[in-house]
Amino acid sequence: MRLVILGGGESGVGTAILGKKKGYEVFVSDFGKIKGNYKEILLLNGISWEEEKHTEELILNAAVVMKSPGIPDKSPIVKKLQERGIPVISEIEFAAPFTKAIIIGITGSNGKTTTTMLTHHLLKSAGLNVGLGGNIGKSFAWQIADNKYDSYVLELSSFQLDGIINFKPHIAIITNISPDHLDRYEYKYENYIDSKFRLTMNQTEDDYLIYDADDEAISNWFKTHTTKAKLIPFSLTKIFSEGAYIKNNKMEIKISQEEFTMDTDHIALEGKHNMKNAMAATSVAKLMQIRKATIRESLSNFQGVEHRLEKVLKIQNVQYINDSKATNVNATFFALDSMNTPTVWIVGGVDKGNDYNELMSLVREKVKAIICLGVDNKKIIDVFGNVVDMMIEVSTMNDAVQMAQRLTEKGDSVLLSPACASFDLFENYEDRGNQFKQAVKNL
Ligand code: ADP
Repeated sequence: MRLVILGGGESGVGTAILGKKKGYEVFVSDFGKIKGNYKEILLLNGISWEEEKHTEELILNAAVVMKSPGIPDKSPIVKKLQERGIPVISEIEFAAPFTKAIIIGITGSNGKTTTTMLTHHLLKSAGLNVGLGGNIGKSFAWQIADNKYDSYVLELSSFQLDGIINFKPHIAIITNISPDHLDRYEYKYENYIDSKFRLTMNQTEDDYLIYDADDEAISNWFKTHTTKAKLIPFSLTKIFSEGAYIKNNKMEIKISQEEFTMDTDHIALEGKHNMKNAMAATSVAKLMQIRKATIRESLSNFQGVEHRLEKVLKIQNVQYINDSKATNVNATFFALDSMNTPTVWIVGGVDKGNDYNELMSLVREKVKAIICLGVDNKKIIDVFGNVVDMMIEVSTMNDAVQMAQRLTEKGDSVLLSPACASFDLFENYEDRGNQFKQAVKNL
């Protein structure tokens, strides 16, 4: 059987290794350049590859094709494959049949990484032999080829879900849905929502779907669709006989006649959105029958993930917070919502069609000054120009941070939560966050 892999990155090389191990004739083709270390690994494993081209004769004879999530469906080579009826699948679809491990799959527009890391932390701290994969860390396929984990926590993007046929997680989480990546979904929000819900399409009565019951897109989906999976909703405002919720400052989880309660003050993560992430992750831990004391300890010591509402330093009693990963309005909404002090807000970058009005009441309430850090800040200035006392445009992170310091007084906060992608002034969101942290340290 010929397995062709489009894209020679982490998931491509991982799939190649698993495919080879399982007896496939494997060929890797990348339209860009393949990184040196990956080339070496392919070579060492006797896997043939090409780069900076897609040679059709070597690709269109595949029995099955694994496409890396970064390659859009509309790329010419994928179209040709589809025209010929050759299945084009994602890494998780290819790899999952080769393991008996329990799979926990996590998707959503925001909170995937945080919820995935927290879930993994909860299970690992309890002594389970659990792997971490999907969008983060080592390729899932590679881990299946190398290791013998009993369970996997996978962060899954909609692109990976677009390439599944039979894949089903035993436990699924949809953290929330808000418009994102619409360029890959014909600018139709419904298509993007449907893509997220593919996570549950193959689930059976023995499986579970954990989801945000406060989320409008999710609630609307349930009005016209069903899933066989057992439903475990979580909410900040509602209460369930089966599900997770907040009541009198306590997180309560009720699953299969079992109850778990914990003071939200004892949960290390902060912000309402993180209470949601904690409810989702803890529901998994309960389903996996982790002891209450272990869950409590893990929730109280999990410090969060870098670049997500990360507290950097307090200087002259001003708290600097790095939320560089907030690349859309919904993420920034929760960042502003979690601020308890007057805030100087650093915002801007490449806007993916943002509606800033959703932030209006939070900005009125909490933001004393806005620092625009983008090439084109017009939209932000138009929306908030008359709302805050001070609005400044800068074009470097150093200027942004130094300006922010000048505008603060004791007890204030400085929040970098851009609501935008970073590609106009930075390499990526990590670069933007790291530059912020460095600039703060230089103050
Ligand atoms: P993802 O992997 O889905 O991008 P992250 O955990 O990396 O999610 O968080 C991305 C951004 O969204 C960060 O700014 C974070 O503070 C914010 N965020 C995290 N969880 C949620 C949530 N449940 N709802 C809304 N925003 C969230």
